[in-house]
Amino acid sequence: MDLQIKGKIALVTAASSGLGFAVARQLADEGVLLAICSRDRDRISAAASRIATASRGTVIPYVCDVTKDSDVEMMLEKIAVDIGYPDILVSNAGGPPAGKALDFQLEDYRQAVELNLLSTVRLCRGVLPSMQAKRWGRIVTITSVSVKQPLDNLILSNTARSGVTAYLKTLSNQVAAYGITVNAVCPGYTRTDRVEELSRAYADQGKGASSEFFAALEKDIPMKRLGKPEELAKTVAFLVSEGAAYITGVSLQVDGGYIKGLF
Ligand code: NAD
Repeated sequence: MDLQIKGKIALVTAASSGLGFAVARQLADEGVLLAICSRDRDRISAAASRIATASRGTVIPYVCDVTKDSDVEMMLEKIAVDIGYPDILVSNAGGPPAGKALDFQLEDYRQAVELNLLSTVRLCRGVLPSMQAKRWGRIVTITSVSVKQPLDNLILSNTARSGVTAYLKTLSNQVAAYGITVNAVCPGYTRTDRVEELSRAYADQGKGASSEFFAALEKDIPMKRLGKPEELAKTVAFLVSEGAAYITGVSLQVDGGYIKGLF
């Protein structure tokens, strides 16, 4: 299937590893002009080189902390000069720490909202004016299954990402007439550094070995395995394609059947 995005300009944030990296790599394979960012220059440069070598395409790394207004503004200005205004935004960021309600101070909640909710708002605000002018755009945010079924030990993530979901759904209706779609993908447990980190938190809290953490997860997943980053990446590639032009306002889980609800 030709996704018809060859030559489009795409920005994938938080892309030095994990899901962001996998999405960036997939979009590069589809022939987009790619901008990627994360906070560490060496890591994002190494990621860009790996993707460019594999895809033989244009991949430009930017150093940007998506929680900082000035970083995002500067990055978007540089991207416009280097390759043009993004047609496609895949917004992603790290996840907040694991824990329960009273494990955290209010400041931790503020940081989680900054990391997941306000970064999404900031990035969307940055790319929307040029998408509206072009009357074409694709925005996909990586959220989590937690927006459909809160995860016990992830109160910060559950709380902040519900706001992201509400923001994206509202936004999708406001920009649909411009040919801009706005969707979210909700990964279930997918084998990345983030999940390794959660497995270490499980062990540190004395709940059992990391291997038991993975076994417990697999037990609750109908497919009996964790997801692969490239499975989420292929879903994102479809959502940003021309063929997905009539899909907007959706939060699509990619979770091996983990969510037990109807929607
Ligand atoms: P990861 O930790 O492997 O990668 C996170 C990436 O984000 C890294 O490249 C890191 O450098 C970058 N990053 C972190 N904070 C940043 C910031 N402020 N500015 C710019 N870059 C930043 O995580 P992952 O597993 O790839 O997860 C990506 C997102 O998906 C996270 O928000 C995570 O919580 C969420 N998620 C992951 C899973 C999973 O199973 N992997 C499941 C549900 C949700």
